[in-house]
Amino acid sequence: MPLSVLEQSVIKLIDQSRDEIVALMQKLVQIPSYSGEEKEKGEFLVKEAAKFNLDDVRIVQQIVDRPNVMGHYYGKTGKPSLTVYAHYDTVPAGDITKWTYGPFSGAIVGNRIYGRGVNDHEFPIPPLLFAIKAIKDAGVTLNGDIVFAFVCDEEFGGHRGMKYVVDEGLCDTDYLLYAGGGGDGKTMGIASNGRGYYRITVKGRTQHTGRNDQGLNAAVQGAKLILRLEKLRHEVNNRRLKFKAGDVEIEGRARFSINLVHAFTTGNNVPDICTVQIDRRLIPQHETFESGQTEIQAIVDELKTEDPEFDAEVAWNPERWMNFSVSVPDSPLVKALQRSVAKVLGFTPTIATGPTGGSSDHGWFNLKYPDRPFVSYGIGRGGNTHTYNEYVTIDGLIDSTKVYALLMMDLLGVAQQPGRLSTTSSSSK
Ligand SMILES: [Zn+2]
Repeated sequence: MPLSVLEQSVIKLIDQSRDEIVALMQKLVQIPSYSGEEKEKGEFLVKEAAKFNLDDVRIVQQIVDRPNVMGHYYGKTGKPSLTVYAHYDTVPAGDITKWTYGPFSGAIVGNRIYGRGVNDHEFPIPPLLFAIKAIKDAGVTLNGDIVFAFVCDEEFGGHRGMKYVVDEGLCDTDYLLYAGGGGDGKTMGIASNGRGYYRITVKGRTQHTGRNDQGLNAAVQGAKLILRLEKLRHEVNNRRLKFKAGDVEIEGRARFSINLVHAFTTGNNVPDICTVQIDRRLIPQHETFESGQTEIQAIVDELKTEDPEFDAEVAWNPERWMNFSVSVPDSPLVKALQRSVAKVLGFTPTIATGPTGGSSDHGWFNLKYPDRPFVSYGIGRGGNTHTYNEYVTIDGLIDSTKVYALLMMDLLGVAQQPGRLSTTSSSSK
């Protein structure tokens, strides 16, 4: 698909910003931002975002030291409007000796930038900022508005992050772009799983170690439960159910993993409490938080019947659940994105039809505005998410910047452009 003269001028400006895009990516990844510990990076980000001459750049937070960074681009008519966002909290680095380049090195090796959070999920942040910079520097004014949101807390469920800013009405836009999916850019997402987070509290009877035969060890009771849950885990993880997003059929994939186990004891006592926590990803239109809990409860009830001493309670964690997302395949957002990708990369991305497995914080937008289209898309060409040596590629960063810029122009419309495009060196006002 041929580029207009205006688009060529924006693309050229992005190519000229290559080193700055890479430098911002490096700086971001060099600041740790584990979920719950986002303060330092949030404060860095708000200062960086302010350099891009956006309006209303500010920190918005539900509780102290959990910043979300927001900003606006106001177009000529304000219509249509688009929220672009990414989350910048990360999971922990794990055993740092297993990282070849260090989780906060931001090391560049060939085409790759390494570091915790670079792929999940900071890589879209420099592209989104440099996309709007190139548009402005090219002398272009858009019709529509853009809300920029760089949010915390996604890894825990987004309750302090995306859920909060959406509930506050700060993303009340016609469309949402989750600048995500650091894959090869061949597909775009319009659906994702919901998430249930269950805690089972297994009860024992404490006793002095010297009289441990008279106690009931909650850790051992918990182990019996875990072995039984393993059967359910296999069954759930093999579950594939189709659901509809508009007229597209998507293959949903359920997920079940026992991710936290903790038995309480001072070390010289028999533990009387063991908690087992399950991260469960729920297929839209088939599974609910309640149905996920019912399956676990059935296992607990089975054990109670078999063993009169077995005692446990199942609860779902209201701080960690996530809504599912389901959008439509033929929205103006999807169409504009397809055109933009075709111009930059020479192919048209298709709708991802599964199997899906993940969930993310765009579920909060989808819950509040079920009829407003969203799409998730990015071209990080990265990998090793949530494990060692997480990376993205530099060419993926640059391509993402170009796609986001063309998408903004296509979807929101160009209200004004410079009269003489030959002077591409004309800078921002
Ligand atoms: Zn993640």
